[in-house]
Amino acid sequence: MSDANLYQELADKLMMGHSETIKRLFSMVADQNEAKLLLAMPATAEELAAATGRSVDDIKKSLDVLFHKGLVFISGSSGKYRMCRDVVQFHDATILWPEATKAFHNLWKEFTDKEWGQTVKVIESIMDKPPTRIIPVEAALEAKNQILHYENVREIVESARRIAVTKCTCRVVDGKCGLPVEVCIQINRAADYSITRGTGREIDKTEAMEIIRKAEEAGLVHVTMNTDHIDHYICNCCSDCCIGLRFMISEGTKFVSPSRFLAVVDEDACIGCESCIERCYFGALSMQNGSDDAKATVDAEKCVGCGLCSVVCASDAIHFDEVRPVDFIPVSGM
Ligand code: SF4
Ligand code: SF4
Repeated sequence: MSDANLYQELADKLMMGHSETIKRLFSMVADQNEAKLLLAMPATAEELAAATGRSVDDIKKSLDVLFHKGLVFISGSSGKYRMCRDVVQFHDATILWPEATKAFHNLWKEFTDKEWGQTVKVIESIMDKPPTRIIPVEAALEAKNQILHYENVREIVESARRIAVTKCTCRVVDGKCGLPVEVCIQINRAADYSITRGTGREIDKTEAMEIIRKAEEAGLVHVTMNTDHIDHYICNCCSDCCIGLRFMISEGTKFVSPSRFLAVVDEDACIGCESCIERCYFGALSMQNGSDDAKATVDAEKCVGCGLCSVVCASDAIHFDEVRPVDFIPVSGM
């Protein structure tokens, strides 16, 4: 089989066979022998050795390299190895490949700019729910609301067994916003993975909360997996580089689910300073009228309940109402 066919087949495995860019990305991160191993997965090291005529020891060395590159994952307790399951995992894992070149990152940026918007729409069409969801900033949550432990950043951090921080993959390849990069909080199994792979730095709960606070002050939106368990990550996303928020804002894609909360402005407390208007990436805040004593108002259709507006409101004029039920957040495995 020619090299070109190998990379075509790898792209096909991610349902991205139409994308020349994905084929080129595979060719930059995997040589021909590695590509053949990926195409033979899922399989154990012994099965891969039998399929390729190589020794098990030799295969295990290659698997270590592929794990380091972000192309291979160990599948549960079966002992089987699998390649990244979709284009999102291919993106997130290989961008943090420690030896990735600038050319490799630039090609991911080209893919993001030219093909990601359409790719997200295809992903949406085959998924029954958005894969990710927004968590409000902690200060926006009020006791009058029912607050679930998996929608409260502090409770997620406090209950974590292990935490690491990695670089934000979107800002590694783009970064035009200039906002902090080492802010992706990895929790439990995700922390184990990133620390073992060498892409994450282990941190304690105090540092995790410091990173989260700095992210909120910088105007980054907390995003996590759209389930009720916490064994994954708290991304801190911007509107310029993030593959989720950027296309949600520009093209209305539904890759990211809103939180269960809605911002509400207390007109008596609002002094009309307009600080919140610029902070809202989603265009949900505006001034009620053009007069000197105009107050901020929220468009409930546009507000995703991120809570960032409350961080910049010095008058404490924004509170949050619970507007979606508890079962709005999918249960694990659904
Ligand atoms: S930041 Fe607060 S006080 Fe200023 S306009 Fe917005 S809601 Fe009103
Ligand atoms: S108004 Fe904007 S900044 Fe405030 S919670 Fe809603 S989406 Fe976030």
